[in-house]
Amino acid sequence: MELMGQQQTGRMNGALLLEARHITHLYQARGGEARGSRPPVVLEDVSLQIHAGELVALLGPSGSGKSTLLRILAGLIRPTQGEVLVHGQRLLGPTPSCAMVFQNFALFPWLTVLQNVELGLQALGLPRLQRLKRALAVIDMIGLDGFEEAYPKELSGGMRQRVGFARALAVEPELLLLDEPFSALDVLTAANLRRELLRLWTEGQIPTRAMLLVTHNIDEAVSMADRLLILGADPGHIRAEVRGLPREQRQPHQPAYAHLVELLYRLMTSPDEDGSALLEAREPALLRRGKPRSARPYQLLPHVAPADIIGLLELVQAKGGRAELSELGRALQLELDELLPLVDAADLLQLARPEEGKLVLTAVGQQLAEADVQEEKRLFRQQALARVALLRRIAEDLATAPDGRVEEERYLERLREHFSEEEAEAQLQTIVEWGRYAEIFTYLEEEGVFVREAEEEQGKSAAAGSQTTSS
Ligand code: ADP
Ligand code: MG
Repeated sequence: MELMGQQQTGRMNGALLLEARHITHLYQARGGEARGSRPPVVLEDVSLQIHAGELVALLGPSGSGKSTLLRILAGLIRPTQGEVLVHGQRLLGPTPSCAMVFQNFALFPWLTVLQNVELGLQALGLPRLQRLKRALAVIDMIGLDGFEEAYPKELSGGMRQRVGFARALAVEPELLLLDEPFSALDVLTAANLRRELLRLWTEGQIPTRAMLLVTHNIDEAVSMADRLLILGADPGHIRAEVRGLPREQRQPHQPAYAHLVELLYRLMTSPDEDGSALLEAREPALLRRGKPRSARPYQLLPHVAPADIIGLLELVQAKGGRAELSELGRALQLELDELLPLVDAADLLQLARPEEGKLVLTAVGQQLAEADVQEEKRLFRQQALARVALLRRIAEDLATAPDGRVEEERYLERLREHFSEEEAEAQLQTIVEWGRYAEIFTYLEEEGVFVREAEEEQGKSAAAGSQTTSS
C-alpha cells in the first residue's frame, strides 16, 4: 500500500482521486420546524473534483460552509443530498485515504504527542510495533523529534499544529484536507510550517497525492495553489474556479502574483456579482467555471463594530480616498475573513464601495473619515437609518411607542424566520451595537428591551437626517 502510494505520486498525476457530486447540506435548526421555517441550507449543489498531483485552495467568506464541506469530503458527516466518490466508490464514512488537519489542532490533551499521532493509525489495524515505527518516523519528519512524550499543553501553537500534521500524515493519506491549518499561528510560525509542508510535498517525501487547503489568506492561496475554488455564501456554492500560477511565478514580486492577488480580492469583495462573468470579462484565461448566486432574501448585517468600520475609512482616507484592498488587508494585518465583513459593512452603509480590487470612499464616507466624534456618530446614524431596514424599523417603533420602549423579542421573531437561532441572535447583537453607537436607542441587556434615546437626541438626529441627503 505504501509502495503503491509512492509510485503513483510521480506517475499518475491527473488521476481523479475524489469527486463530490451535487452536495447540498442542511443542519437541522433547533426547533426550526416547530415554527414552520426551513432549516438553513449551508451548502447548495456543490460539485468538485480533486486530481492527483494538485494542491487546491478553497477560499470563501466566514460561514460559507468551508469546514462543513471538508468534513463531508472526509466522510465525517453525511451530506443531506449528493455524494462523495473516492476512486469512484461512494464514501460512507471516514476513510484512511483522506485525512484532515484542523484549525484548532483538535489534539487530545491527555495523550502525549506520540499517542496522539498513533491514534490515527489504530483504524488501519497495523500491528503495534509497526504503528510505533510509523508514528516515530512521521514525528521525526515533521520536526517533533524529542517531543514524543510531551503533552499538548507543554507545546507552542506551532508545535501543536505539527502534531496535527503528523497525526494526519501518519496514515499516509492520498488526500490531505486542511482546514485553515495555519490561521491560529503567528505569522512567522505559519510561514515556517507552510514552507515545510510545501517542501515535503514538492520533494515527494510524503505519499500524499493531493491537498485541499481551506484558507482566508489570499497570499497563502496564491503562493501555494495549483487551482483555486471560490466559495460564495448564503447558501455555500462554488462561485468561480481559478487556475493557480505556475510554480516559478508564486513570488510576491512577480507581476502575475500581484495580479492574481488583486483579482481574488476583487472577486471576494463583490459577492453579488457573477463570479465567472467577472472573470470572463477580465481574465478569460483564468476562468474555469462558476455559477451566479441568487439574490439575498433578507438583509444580512456583517458582524463588525462601528469603530472598526470608521478605522477602515480613516485608513482609506489617509491613502487619498481609494486604496487597494490587498494593501489594506496587509496594513491592518487583517485576513480576508476579518477584512471582508468590514468592507461589506462600509458598502452597505454607502460609506465606501469596492471597485476593481480597490476600496473607494463615497462623499459621506470621506466626510465621516474627517469628522470629530460627534459628527462621526451623526453621519453613522444617518447612514444606518437610511440603509439598515431593521434599525429603521426599531427607530420607528420607538418613536410611536407610548412609553418609548420595545421588546427585542418582536425583532428576534422576524429574524428567526430567515436565519438560524444562532445567526438571528448574532444579527440582533450587531443591531444593538450599531444602534447604541449611533445613539438611536439605549438597550437594556437584562430585560431585552430597546429604549428611546432622550428626546433632544431624537430631535437632533431627525434634523441632521434632513440636512444631508447627498450621497
Ligand atoms: P466556514 O468554515 O466557511 O466558516 P462552516 O462550515 O463552519 O463555515 O459553517 C457554515 C454554516 O453552518 C454557518 O452558518 C454555521 O453556523 C453553520 N454550522 C456549522 N456547523 C454547524 C452545526 N454542527 N450545526 C448547525 N449549524 C452549523
Ligand atoms: Mg471553518
